[in-house]
Amino acid sequence: MSLSLFKQCKQYNVPLLQCPSFLFVVMGLINITSIFTVFFIAQRYTEEPELVVGIVIGVSLVIFIISYVIVGTFTQLAETNRMKTEFLNIVSHQILTPLTSEKWLVNLLLGQKLGALNNEQKEYLELLKSSNTKSVQLVNALLNVSRIESNKMVFEKKPIDLKQLAQEVVSDEKPAIEASKIFLQILDQTNGKNQVIGDAMKIKLVAQNFISNAIKYTKENGQIMVILKGDGGFLKFSVIDNGVGIPSEEKPFIFQKFFRSSNVMRFQTLGSGLGLYVSKYIIDMLGGKIGFESEENKGSDFWFTLPIAKL
Ligand code: ADP
Repeated sequence: MSLSLFKQCKQYNVPLLQCPSFLFVVMGLINITSIFTVFFIAQRYTEEPELVVGIVIGVSLVIFIISYVIVGTFTQLAETNRMKTEFLNIVSHQILTPLTSEKWLVNLLLGQKLGALNNEQKEYLELLKSSNTKSVQLVNALLNVSRIESNKMVFEKKPIDLKQLAQEVVSDEKPAIEASKIFLQILDQTNGKNQVIGDAMKIKLVAQNFISNAIKYTKENGQIMVILKGDGGFLKFSVIDNGVGIPSEEKPFIFQKFFRSSNVMRFQTLGSGLGLYVSKYIIDMLGGKIGFESEENKGSDFWFTLPIAKL
């Protein structure tokens, strides 16, 4: 374990003498040695208590200096983290502006208001539009990470119709569903109680993430079911697919930032590993639960719950 702690310091570029885990071990060794030394000296030189007091003061001083270095390193790491979050925020905003103008221009051209387009031109512009959408999604995911890390994500709490939201997401994803020849259906088992309390935009982001993942990680002719059902005072939203699933040894890492499982990386290069990290934060903040069941090569069931709105 200590070896992996030192490796961590190497990863973060912290010199060994400032490495908190290393210093912690040194501190422990000094403590143990000093306890024995004081014990032996106190036994041998009972007539010289000043010597024992001197040793205790000396050891305390060394421990104080080491603690000072550890606090300094933590402060430095916290400052680096703050700078990274700020950097992410600035860069993402700077990239988002030209991407938004690009989207506007492509839509203008595709709308043929500046002149008729032939099929080849339309096809290229559609490709440009789709890569623009992917870039905007990635930059927005990075912006969300920076908002989460700086505690700046704000939440509304209003009644939301989860069924309507699911239908909207499915309709947005229609081109991808059709392109992958996937059969997708929404099953409403709520008996009409499909309103939850939350933030519509953010819940939509989570639903979009679950549904687009199910499409991305399900090979052609797959089947996806979006199920809404009551669960105590909560509404459960599940997206069940018969796709590639998640290897069991990688399940503990699924909600970690930037994590992508090894089986999907082999066939699906597109992805940032940020969607589920952001989704978990959103659902946690809205007082719900998020989770999944999955089996490799069989499929996955990603779900979240949110409190039912009392109307
Ligand atoms: P991304 O999809 O951009 O890689 P996410 O955070 O949305 O990032 O998902 C993280 C990882 O979780 C994915 O890379 C994939 O390995 C796994 N995953 C998520 N949803 C599914 C699913 N429906 N089927 C199989 N694996 C999934």
